[in-house]
Formats: sequence, structure tokens, C-alpha cells
Amino acid sequence: MTDQVTRGAYIHIPFCDHICYYCDFNKVFMKNQPVDGYLDALAKEMAYYAAMGPVKTIYIGGGTPTALNEEQFERMLSDVSHYFGHDALQEFTVEANPENLSGGKLELMKRYGVNRLSVGVQSFDNELLRTIGRAHNAENARDTIQRAQAAGFENITLDLMFALPGQTEEMLHQSLETALSLNTPHISIYSLQIEPRTIFYNRMKGGKLRLPGEDIEADMYGQIIFTLEKHGLRQYEISNFSRSGYQGIHNSLYWHNEEYYGIGAGAHGYVNGKRYANAGPVKKYISLVGKHGFSEASAHAVTVQERIEEEMFLGLRLMRGVSQSRFLQKFGRHIKEVYGNQINRLKSEGLLEECGDYIKLSTKGIFLGNNVFEAFLLS
Ligand code: SF4
Repeated sequence: MTDQVTRGAYIHIPFCDHICYYCDFNKVFMKNQPVDGYLDALAKEMAYYAAMGPVKTIYIGGGTPTALNEEQFERMLSDVSHYFGHDALQEFTVEANPENLSGGKLELMKRYGVNRLSVGVQSFDNELLRTIGRAHNAENARDTIQRAQAAGFENITLDLMFALPGQTEEMLHQSLETALSLNTPHISIYSLQIEPRTIFYNRMKGGKLRLPGEDIEADMYGQIIFTLEKHGLRQYEISNFSRSGYQGIHNSLYWHNEEYYGIGAGAHGYVNGKRYANAGPVKKYISLVGKHGFSEASAHAVTVQERIEEEMFLGLRLMRGVSQSRFLQKFGRHIKEVYGNQINRLKSEGLLEECGDYIKLSTKGIFLGNNVFEAFLLS
């Protein structure tokens, strides 16, 4: 069955029991929210999408999925497994935060077939964790990962951040060393982006946020690539590093521009050539699902030109790059017929390379990804 199954399912749990200072995800403070009503609606929306066909990956993200209590958590996993579980499922990931990943929740995930954990660590420096408003400390994070490993979860990815306020290269080095000592086969690491409607945005506007400059940020990124690669975690995407055989399968769907169901408040999906966004506010989401069985608030049929652009933006994030033969097969045109000028210019500037069938970022291009991506906008 899996050869024909190409889609994934992203399921969003928008609840958090505290709000981090940098966060612009679709999330809501959990207290007084209609969590059980939300889980009812989620099950109904899962039924709607499951009827369109099976998936090869499931990714439960948030918000904070592990903020649910054990009863709610079990109910959610049982519904997901009922609608999307099957023996040939390739990957079933749940995002977990150190402060609320209990032994009971680890057991439940084992029981319902979760085979990959994504742990939101961000840093192993307690001062930095306080600065960015996280609810856990470094000891909680280490302990959580070790408990998950002892419970039989081998495929664990850590989320880390860099270019944080007050962070030095030495502090980053210490966090990387601690992360590596835990021996997880995958690490994702993102630089802090200051987004509107966040506490950090307001502090920045008030001149109260001290961030490392662009040069230090680039040095940090270089340090990350060097350190992780030296320890056998190969960079396979701009922000992702893994041991052989542990690349994230669900996220690879996005980078390969494949389709996925987006289920839950504020989730985005891509189904039958259409990208859609679900209603974000929890009560609106519940009401829409009650009426229609799904919660689409906006949708857009992706044009061929947009698909071509996305193929480049998303594919070039991968270190392997964009396959010329796959491009031809998908769009019936050679990549150089569409992008010959851009490819030649970026190659001459040392930002792109051609490697067999693939067009890929050069080492210099990896540091200047956004400049490269924007060259592939066709209008
Ligand atoms: S970063 Fe995660 S835990 Fe923090 S507020 Fe955002 S969604 Fe919640």
C-alpha cells in the first residue's frame, strides 16, 4: 500500500500552559479553553480527511500536544490511530515539551504507535531559557530525553534555537555539546526570528532587546554546521541534521512539495492541488467543524507557476537540492528553460552548484538562502 500513499497528516493541538516570548504560532493559553470540545471537533475533521485516503506520516504539533492531561492525550492518540493508523505507516511524530511529558504520556505514545518524538528544548542554558520565556530548565530537558530513551524511543529529534538575546558563541557551544551528549539521531536548529504580535517584538520596538548581530549569527550557524557534522549528524536541510536513516519523513513531504492534510485550528493543508488554512480561533474552529465537518477558512488552487516556484524554494532548502529530471517529469519543461538566467547568475556568484542531476546551494549559498530563493519568483 505505501508505494501509492504519498500524503501525510499534520494535526494541530493549539493549547499551551504558558506563552514563550518569541512565539507567533497559532496557540492559546490553555486555562478555560473548551479542550474536550476541541478534541470532539478534531475527531470529526480527521474522519473527513481520512475518507480521502490513507497517509504515510502523521505529525502532531502545536501549541503543545503534551499540555493535554493524560485522559485527553489518550483520547487524542486513540482517535488519530483510529483514523490514520495502519501497519505500514512510515512515521508517527509527536511534539513534546520537557515540562509536561510524563511517564504516563510516554507509555500512551508507545501503545498507540508513536515512533518519533520531537522535544522542544531550545537551549540547555538556564539563563537563556528564562530569557526566552520557556517553562522548563536544562535539567528537565536532559531528564525528559533520557526517560524517553529508557521508555524505548530511539528516534528523537531535539529542537534548538540560536541567535538568542544575550547568547554568546560559548553558550551555543555548551548547548550543542550537551545536546550531542544525549546521542539523539536528529537535531533541528533555528535562528530566532522576531515576529509581530510577540513579547519580543514589543521589547525590540521599545529598544529593550539585545540580539547578536548578523555577523555573529552567521558565525554561530557556521559553528553549528561544523560541530554537528563532526559528530556524525549530517546537514540535510538548512535547519536539520541527522544520522544516516533518520531524516524526518514528514517534513520531507513539505520540502518535496507533496500533499498533506492539515487538521486542527489554524493548520494549513495541501490537498488535490489546493492549499488551505483552517480557522485559527478555537471556538470558530469548533463551530465550523460542527457545521461542515472541516474548518477551511481560506483556500487557494495552486497555479502551475506557483508550483514551479515552490519546487525551487522548498527543494533548495535540501542540501541535495532540486532534481532536474524530477522537475522535467513534473512540469514537462526543463528547469533551465524556465530558470536558465537565474541559475547561471547564481552559479557565477558562487551561490548555486550543479551536481549531476541536482541544482543545489553552495556552501556560501547555504548562508544566504533567502537571497537565492527570491531569485526564483517568476513574477
Ligand atoms: S513556542 Fe511552543 S510552547 Fe512556547 S508558546 Fe509557542 S507553541 Fe507554546
